[in-house]
Amino acid sequence: MPPENTNSVLVSSGDSCVIFDAWGRSDDWDNLLKSRGLKLQAIYSTHGHSDHISAAPELARRHNVSWFMNKADLQLVLWGNQILDFWELPRIPDDFLPPTDLHAGTTKILDDIEMEIIASPGHSRGGVMFYFPEYKILLTGDTIFRDGVGRTDLPGGDEKILRESIANLGRMNLPDDTYVVHGHGADSMMGAVKSIFP
Ligand SMILES: [Zn+2]
Repeated sequence: MPPENTNSVLVSSGDSCVIFDAWGRSDDWDNLLKSRGLKLQAIYSTHGHSDHISAAPELARRHNVSWFMNKADLQLVLWGNQILDFWELPRIPDDFLPPTDLHAGTTKILDDIEMEIIASPGHSRGGVMFYFPEYKILLTGDTIFRDGVGRTDLPGGDEKILRESIANLGRMNLPDDTYVVHGHGADSMMGAVKSIFP
């Protein structure tokens, strides 16, 4: 796997699975799915920076599944190739399979797992977070980290909008014992994350 600490998340139920932020090489993901006997059902991305999507278009094509990402981040997909070059990862081709648009609201994955999609622009225009109320698990992408807020100097970044998104997360008042997986670095708990809210 490439030398970056993006937190990809695989959620499985029975022999079906969904991948969040499919970073790295699609070949490596294929090997993982094969070794665990899992069938891929969908791919979701918190946002369109290359270290969160590098394997998504190719994996979606190979497995004939949808790749979901907010379309406001579509323009970031090919921009990210310069980063993939740096990591010596395969480029995303110009004719990549486009993502299916993702909207805020409640949906289900793997038939029965409820998932809330929370609009969270600021780190990028189309950023979202994913929350699983039954399991009290939140995937924040790069909106917020264990030790602070996301950066806003990359394409699509806007500090004021990011602050509003974080304030919005604060207003949701998720339980303190919600397990929080950030886009990079160590996981945390909601109770600790609340101390960084404005
Ligand atoms: Zn990012």
